[in-house]
Amino acid sequence: MRFSRRLFMTVAAAVIAAPVYAAEKLSVVATTGMIADAARQVGGELVDVRGLMGPGVDPHAYRQTRTDIVAMTRADLVLWHGLYLEAQMEDFFHDLGAKRRVVAVAEGLPKEVLKGHDDYADKFDPHVWMDPELWSLVVAEVRDSLIELQPESQVVFEANAAAHLAEIAKLSGYSSKAMATVPAEARVLLTAHDAFGYFGSAYGFEVLGIQGISTQSEAGLNRISTLVDMLVDRQVSAIFVESSVSDRNIRALIEGAAAKGHEIKIGGELFSDAMGIEGTYEGTYVGMIDHNVTVIADALGGDVPMRGMQNKLSAGS
Ligand code: ZN
Repeated sequence: MRFSRRLFMTVAAAVIAAPVYAAEKLSVVATTGMIADAARQVGGELVDVRGLMGPGVDPHAYRQTRTDIVAMTRADLVLWHGLYLEAQMEDFFHDLGAKRRVVAVAEGLPKEVLKGHDDYADKFDPHVWMDPELWSLVVAEVRDSLIELQPESQVVFEANAAAHLAEIAKLSGYSSKAMATVPAEARVLLTAHDAFGYFGSAYGFEVLGIQGISTQSEAGLNRISTLVDMLVDRQVSAIFVESSVSDRNIRALIEGAAAKGHEIKIGGELFSDAMGIEGTYEGTYVGMIDHNVTVIADALGGDVPMRGMQNKLSAGS
């Protein structure tokens, strides 16, 4: 008994002390916070993930910095979204793909689940993370990419992915239930840019963005005045700002409606193309969507727990 206990301690000490193991973590670089989160969830202890785009960063406009380029050229695996989300980085990734292992994780989604893109006839709406069911397919792609990179860790990646996918399934259930509590006539979601199309389809909301699917298009005065009329007609009570897009246009709408005698409040700040602060619940994919769903349902007259699906949202978010 004594002997085996000692043996156990020796083995445990060896595992803890193994510096080689730590140095051999796979190095993964991901563009958006959502993809970085998927890589962390699936890779667990076996990966070291660097996300290029932090809180409040707009992926449509982002260009790689010199530090990013160094990190990507040294990485074992580079994950980007694709579907023209990182519009300014497309050429860079196509070149990098000749030298490094590079995967566009959303490019492989079946075309029949994708929505068209108003701004470009031959492209799709990239904001698939807004529907947890679609995001599950991306998480599976991240899992498969990691397995391809390190087949000997397949069991670990599969187990981690299964646990994360179960959590996303729970999130999907919570979102459907939460959105169903919003009165039917209030199911209008107006945000700074068209990031919520998949969200609208998943939960039966009419979705309007002031700017198009990309933040790179400017909203004209005509667009603003058409939207003001619609908000007044429909008696929409709340519209939303986004953490990664300027709220200038949202304020113009509120002022425009006020001039016509209709008061609109800001329903809250949503995470559209970037997550919350790293290290917080809102800085994870599940927390980001939980936040959005809870804020939207609450602002539009639904009935949801104040602190979300698992009571983890920061107070007042
Ligand atoms: Zn966007």
